[in-house]
Amino acid sequence: MDIQQILAYQKQDFEILKLERQLDESEDKKIYHAMINVVKDAQNKSNNLEKEAGQLIKQYSDLKKAYDDNIKKCGELVNKKTSDISKEELEKLVSTTKGMIDNIDILEKKMLAFAEQVNSCLGEFDAARKRYNDARKKYTLHKQAFEALSNKLKPQIDSLKQEIKKVEENMDPTFLSKYKQRRADKVFPIFVPVVDKACGGCRMELPSANLDKLKRNGFLECEHCRRIIYNN
Ligand SMILES: [Zn+2]
Repeated sequence: MDIQQILAYQKQDFEILKLERQLDESEDKKIYHAMINVVKDAQNKSNNLEKEAGQLIKQYSDLKKAYDDNIKKCGELVNKKTSDISKEELEKLVSTTKGMIDNIDILEKKMLAFAEQVNSCLGEFDAARKRYNDARKKYTLHKQAFEALSNKLKPQIDSLKQEIKKVEENMDPTFLSKYKQRRADKVFPIFVPVVDKACGGCRMELPSANLDKLKRNGFLECEHCRRIIYNN
């Protein structure tokens, strides 16, 4: 294994990694990803509220109808000529009218309560729509900013990748594949020197048997962090 070649490769690859991280950790990316959920939630909320408002309005109009019917009937009773009815009938009429007035009173109170519910539901609906619109705006804004960054960095990444591909052709395939596995697992750097009898990556001290192995073979896989330790 040509350690100098591998280290040079790792250094070159680090330039790619830095650009990839810049993209991955972009605030704009985080924000526009977060906005996807906000948009979805606000949309669900406003859909549910729309349904709820529809039901409330229907219930309200049923109440209103019952109220209007009562008012109409009451008016009819009040306007009835009393001269040609008996005393008993008159008493009955008075009691029915009284019952209807009580009914109207109850219906009025219910309608008021319903109107309040409808209003608060519509208020929540407006708030949810606003949240939806704001989140959409924010999503578009940050997605565009991220895409601008991506358009700037992607060509740089691609050209660096093409450069190291040429180096890869001359590398030991076993080490290269180990390298790529660990890089995919977000381990970096992958090749590290031994430092004071410890792994230069995770600082875990190496048992003497492993140190012997390292001396013998020139490299050793760290049992703790899986980096490849080289003897310098
Ligand atoms: Zn280690």
